[in-house]
Parts: sequence; C-alpha cells; structure tokens
Amino acid sequence: MARISFIGLGNMGAPMSINLIKSGHDLSVFDVFAQSMESVVAEGAHAAKSAVESAQNVDFILSMLPGGKHVKELYLGQSGLLKSIAGSKTVVIDSSTIETETAKLIARHARENGCSFVDAPVSGGVGGAKAGTLAFMVGGCDKDYQLVKPILECMGKNIFHAGDIGAGQSAKACNNMLLGIMMAGTAEVLNMGKRIGLDPSTLSDIMKNSTGSNWALQSYNPAPGVMDNVPSSNNYDGGFRVDLMHKDLGLAMELSRRSESPTPLGSNAYALYSLHKSKGAGGLDFSSILELYLANKTE
Ligand code: NAD
Repeated sequence: MARISFIGLGNMGAPMSINLIKSGHDLSVFDVFAQSMESVVAEGAHAAKSAVESAQNVDFILSMLPGGKHVKELYLGQSGLLKSIAGSKTVVIDSSTIETETAKLIARHARENGCSFVDAPVSGGVGGAKAGTLAFMVGGCDKDYQLVKPILECMGKNIFHAGDIGAGQSAKACNNMLLGIMMAGTAEVLNMGKRIGLDPSTLSDIMKNSTGSNWALQSYNPAPGVMDNVPSSNNYDGGFRVDLMHKDLGLAMELSRRSESPTPLGSNAYALYSLHKSKGAGGLDFSSILELYLANKTE
C-alpha cells in the first residue's frame, strides 16, 4: 500500500482516485473546489485543507489539473509544493495535459529539490477513468517509470514509456492532433453524405467496414442517433469537451512551431475547433464539431 496525495478531483481525477482507493492505497486529496472531494472522501480518502497539507509524508503526488498554468502554480508558485517536499523521496506524477516545456521546467525544479518527476498524461476520457482502462503515456527516466508503473496500473490498462521527461506530453499532443483531425474529417463526410441523400447510419456502417474506418466511426459516431451511449446521442453532453480538444490542438500547434513540422491538417483542425468554441460550443463534447457543418448549411 502506498500513501498518495491526489490533487485535482474533477471529471477525471475523482474516478481515478477512487480506483486507487479500491486498489488498497491510502489517499489524501485536495481540490480548490471543496465539493469535488465529496465522492472520493465517501470512498475513504482524507480531505486535506491545502495541497501542501495533502502532500506531507506521502510516497507519490498525483496531479490532474486543467492546464499548464495550474500545474506550474501548484508546484512552483508561492506556496509551491516542490519546496514543501524538498529532500523527501516523494515521486511526483503529473497526469494533466500540459505543454511539454512546462513538464520539463517542473522536472528541472523537482531535480533541484531532490525529488523525482514524471509526466504521465492520459487518453481514454471519463469512461476510461471510471473503468480503470486509461492509457498512460509516461515521460521520465527508466527508474522512475518502473516506480510509477504499479500505481498507474491501478487506473489504466496500457502504460507506455514514451521516452524522457516531456515525451509523455509530446505523445499525447500527437495522439490528440490525430483525434481532432479524424473527428473533424468524419463529421465532414457524414454531413456531406446526409446532404447527398445517404442515411448516416447506413453510411457509417459502410465506412466502418471499408478503408475509411476509424475510431470515431467504430466507437464515437458524431451523428446523433447512429450509436447508443455516445455524447452525440445525448445532446453532446458528457465526454471530452470542445474546450479541452481546443487546448490540446493548441499544444500540438506549439510543438509543430518549435519543431518546424508542417501540420496543415492539424492547423485546419485547430481552426475548426477555434471557430466552434467561439460560437459557444466549448462545453459540448468534441464530436459536436458536426454542428459547425450543419450551422453553415445555406439552403
Ligand atoms: P476538470 O476541470 O473537470 O477538473 C480539474 C479539477 O482541478 C477541478 O476540480 C478544479 O477545481 C481542480 N483544480 C484547479 N486548480 C487547482 C489547484 N491549484 N489545486 C487543486 N485543484 C485544482 O478537468 P478534467 O476533465 O478532470 O481534466 C483534467 C486534465 O485531464 C486536463 O488537463 C485535461 O486536458 C486532461 N484530460 C481530460 C480528459 C477528459 O475527457 N475530461 C481526457 C484526457 C485528459
């Protein structure tokens, strides 16, 4: 049994920490929004009054925060966690999706404070977090990867060692750029199919069993009514928010800029999601990108 501080108990963090408790670990949790801690406390976690309190005398700290600025503030800010755990053997795992450069910066400070740090963003969404089937993409040295793997296995099915510090975030940005391109492409085709008289369910069946098959068609169809139990059949509620896809495509664009990699498809997906978000769709599931095409219908 490990002592774990879990910080950030939102849509992802709450079910992930519940899976850690169910695996027998001792959890001290903290969220700036106290109500977020209730479901986890009901499962046996201790609710701390601050991040610093939650991180005292633990083996691991796991953070699951909205973005890079929150993670930077948590570890390097005024009451920065890294200072408060300096010299301890605590291993820090950040599973938020953030900039590769921010992960590297925090890792540098962690090293200076004598602590270990890995970036370990996830794929699999809220469903995967609840079911304990997330994919983790870990960036860090081999020794730290071996240390965190058994902890991550309590929350995920596939634990990948992507490479050195920051590689987990880079792999996540690559995956989500492909996901954004694939979802927008699938929505674009389904919209055209409908306008030329094809039934969305029939067309989806055809493409699912042809060379156009992809994850969106297999598991997450963006057209309402084609598939049960997906956000498109629930007014695009739940699932993976447009805000988050927009953030992830922005992270991918930054990597493209830094590496001078041509990403015309990624750039277009980013532009589409920016437009969609600007029309007030930020809180909807990302498969709602289909609505952007419907809204543009002129006839
Ligand atoms: P969320 O907004 O539901 O949860 C974030 C939580 O962090 C909130 O409860 C918030 O109150 C808390 N928080 C913010 N700042 C804090 C601080 N300084 N100290 C303590 N708590 C703080 O977000 P989410 O959907 O759980 O996503 C978390 C991360 O996981 C994001 O980086 C996101 O990109 C990534 N992610 C999300 C999904 C998804 O499907 N939702 C999938 C993969 C990855």
